[in-house]
Amino acid sequence: MTHTVTLIPGDGIGPEVTDAMRRVVDATGVAIDWDVQEAGADLIAKYGTPLPGHVIESIRRNKVGIKGPVTTPVGTGFRSVNVALRQALDLYANLRPAKTIPGVASRYEDVDLVIVRENTEGLYVGIEHEVIAGEAAEAIRIITRRASERIVRFAFEYARTNSRKLVTAVHKANILKITDGLFLRTAQEVAARYPDIAFNDRIIDNACMQLVQRPHEYDVLVMPNLYGDVVSDLCSGLVGGLGVTPGANIGDEIAVFEPVHGSAPKYTGQNKVNPTATIRCGALMLRHLGEVGAAERIERAVAEVIFAGERVTYDLKPTRDDPTAVGTQEMAEAIVEAL
Ligand code: NAD
Repeated sequence: MTHTVTLIPGDGIGPEVTDAMRRVVDATGVAIDWDVQEAGADLIAKYGTPLPGHVIESIRRNKVGIKGPVTTPVGTGFRSVNVALRQALDLYANLRPAKTIPGVASRYEDVDLVIVRENTEGLYVGIEHEVIAGEAAEAIRIITRRASERIVRFAFEYARTNSRKLVTAVHKANILKITDGLFLRTAQEVAARYPDIAFNDRIIDNACMQLVQRPHEYDVLVMPNLYGDVVSDLCSGLVGGLGVTPGANIGDEIAVFEPVHGSAPKYTGQNKVNPTATIRCGALMLRHLGEVGAAERIERAVAEVIFAGERVTYDLKPTRDDPTAVGTQEMAEAIVEAL
């Protein structure tokens, strides 16, 4: 059977890491018809938008997509393509696992966390405006019972399916009593329907401190959009950095896989960055497509190459300027050989 998958290479380091992923996925022998679609700043001149309708339509049609990062201008310019895509396709759950990989130097051993980030609302609805030009501005943060209910249910269903023991709701309901209060109350109501899985909640600042000090006390964490964005990068840092952590945007019918990291523009075109996060996205995608054997082979091959520690990128070497570090494509080649 051939699977048709929308592939958005993205920009910055996106084309390099998605090329590496594609090589590895193709090497498993699973037949994938890659429907390549461009998105990002370069499209604006031709289509008037960085996310043309035909890109969204391609994912709607294929039901599965995988993407490299897309640059969003800071403090000005167009709205994030990544956020717009998640909202347009109602990909409400952003799943970001952060698990220790043997051989990757990090502060702790055996970290195994899963961040479930609400992906469609919160501060990322992007409604903001100046109240007094140059002096005061405001952003609107939307929290609904519907979105809170489905994201917490997603976290519990994930926990149940994957034999996880604890779901923690992360919030700031002491200060944002109405919005995060609604999120927390909804989480407590959903939790009551899952008596087989433990539940607790933490205020976000305390959760960050405890994650850094005692990550083993946590398991699955569910939280509103902005908190999930920040906490998932923190958790990436606990297991070796952004080069290794994959992610998935999941809706009821559609899933789009993408690494946690961004487009790291300063490394564009240097064949330098770590392709692992995106290759692991490829494995998550294969699992989603029912190609579990191929996914496991990729995961094993990645683990083998990293554990050997030889043909790996600079970020996985003991020092950042280690002369034995290999490039993005050379690491992908090593993973293909290990397959
Ligand atoms: P970033 O994740 O692009 O890079 C931060 C740092 O992390 C890099 O300087 C690099 O040291 C490290 N890093 C990232 N990816 C790596 C890899 N594969 N291998 C090794 N090291 C890696 O974050 P940023 O600099 O804050 O953002 C750059 C751009 O990316 C911005 O325009 C931002 O909006 C965008 N972004 C896009 C996405 C997405 O497409 N989903 C996600 C986050 C950021």
